[in-house]
Amino acid sequence: MDKKKITNMEVKKKNRNDVFRYLCKNGMVSNPDISYALKLSLPTTTQITKELIEKGLVEEKGELQSTGGRRAKALAVSDDTGKAVGLDITKNHISLVLTGLTGRILKYDRIFLPYAAEERYYQEVSQKLESFLHESGWEEKEVLGIGISFPGIIDLDREEVADSHILGVSALPFSMVSRFFACPCHFLNDANAGAYAEGIQSESRESFFYLSLSNTVGGAVYNNGRLVQGKNFRCGEVGHMTIVPDGEPCYCGKYGCLDAYCSAKCLSEGKLEDFFERLEKGEQEAVGLWDQYTSYLAIAVNNIHMVLDCDIVLGGYVGSCMGEHIRDVRDKVSERNTFEESSSFVRVCRHKMGAAALGASLKIIELFMEQV
Ligand SMILES: [Zn+2]
Repeated sequence: MDKKKITNMEVKKKNRNDVFRYLCKNGMVSNPDISYALKLSLPTTTQITKELIEKGLVEEKGELQSTGGRRAKALAVSDDTGKAVGLDITKNHISLVLTGLTGRILKYDRIFLPYAAEERYYQEVSQKLESFLHESGWEEKEVLGIGISFPGIIDLDREEVADSHILGVSALPFSMVSRFFACPCHFLNDANAGAYAEGIQSESRESFFYLSLSNTVGGAVYNNGRLVQGKNFRCGEVGHMTIVPDGEPCYCGKYGCLDAYCSAKCLSEGKLEDFFERLEKGEQEAVGLWDQYTSYLAIAVNNIHMVLDCDIVLGGYVGSCMGEHIRDVRDKVSERNTFEESSSFVRVCRHKMGAAALGASLKIIELFMEQV
């Protein structure tokens, strides 16, 4: 095949891809709308939507209201196109999310299910997923895929969960997990999944650092639409950067890691919402804990910002719950910052609870989109 032919095919694929993405994003639209928005000729647009209709991905849904002239056919993504599942595995819970191709959340559930590195556990997860889908009127085999978020190092070359201290797992092959599910599985690290949810749906192609503050602390570098993985798939693992030399013990076996000072457990062993309620009321103990927590957090945020010079998104349970209290973090970050700049580069995440499950499911949708 000569070079020009490949290029033409690539252009055709890109156009088809752009049209399908536009339809997913904008709901009911007409061929002239698409043609105008994507700067494609009307015959090219019409040909592409015809192909998408033949593939069963797009449907004609009557006519659009018109201010004059001939009414245009209304096109929309077919209701029967695939759905994607996101599964977030944590030490004590699983979260499940079902999304459509538009990325809209159709169903979300969080279930108490302590992790066990045993067949029985995965069988139970699989059953929970089946009933979760059944309640939505879907079957597992109709689903495009399952994005599985793990709190650990995901080695995409070796296709294994290389390490998860918190779950007590190492060198767990993806195949040992995926065999319990009827549809294709894709694995992601939990902070990467959270960052993906934050970044992929944004209008602008942003770059940011996602600091995941849940019962463990992790992070991810999101750069211009992509996750930066690092040489050993450990990029952004800031939970284990030393914040206090020889400080508090960390679950990883070292001392003074950020995780020992900024995990959600440092604020509350119970419901984090209750902690923030106590903080609102000005309860002394909560105020003291928050002051200590934000002091360490500000060190971490300032250090990360010095290395990467980009926005920093506070995610995970703490980022989801802190709301207006982010001003305390910003004040302390400002105090540490060598350069005179506003600390508005620190912000809380857009997606609150379930961000990792959502990100894992959006990854499945993106993989599908790429091959339309
Ligand atoms: Zn550690």
